[in-house]
Amino acid sequence: MLRFEDYELALVIVLTRFLEALAIVLSIFLAMKGYKLRYVVLTVLLVALSVGVSVGALAFREHFALIVSANLLLTFTLLSLLILYVVKNPERTKSFSPPPGARCPVCNVLILRDDDICTAKIGDYTYFFDSCDHLVQLLKDPKFFLERKSVYPGKLKEVYVKTKDTKRWKDIKNVKLVERDGKLFAYEKAHSSAESVSTEELLKRAQNVLGGGN
Ligand SMILES: [Zn+2]
Repeated sequence: MLRFEDYELALVIVLTRFLEALAIVLSIFLAMKGYKLRYVVLTVLLVALSVGVSVGALAFREHFALIVSANLLLTFTLLSLLILYVVKNPERTKSFSPPPGARCPVCNVLILRDDDICTAKIGDYTYFFDSCDHLVQLLKDPKFFLERKSVYPGKLKEVYVKTKDTKRWKDIKNVKLVERDGKLFAYEKAHSSAESVSTEELLKRAQNVLGGGN
């Protein structure tokens, strides 16, 4: 027959294992989806802390059930809030660091971190552009770049630009593309008088060409 201590220990082991599995699944999800490393670390730390509390609860037998259930509830709430925040705020939580050796598919130049870089995911590939102007060139004439094999067909998604004025990463739908000296720049807060290009229309037309059967 199981003694009280065995039941407590078994419960802690089961919960710990379950949380470990959850932490692994969430970390892989965050890393695969290109979110910043800090959110992966935070997920792991949160779960490690929770496991620590559950193990520590063994020392307080009279409050064991209360501590373990409160801990579990709190961990689930915090994890849900964290994941919800990360997924709902991609402009802040995504990692936009270009991989070493990344080249602009339009002009083939090496991407440097300090440029006004932009990124677009087409199918399974994430492309980086050295300038907003080159991203727009691709969106304006995707057929040319498909034929040149600079990009491969697929669903167009996750198009982000680093703005010229605030230097922040923004979804291209949330910026204004303003023409200066024949080049397009992305502004977060452009004067309403400034001549700007409709990004929604641009994306829709590019998608029709890039989609290519997918
Ligand atoms: Zn380029």
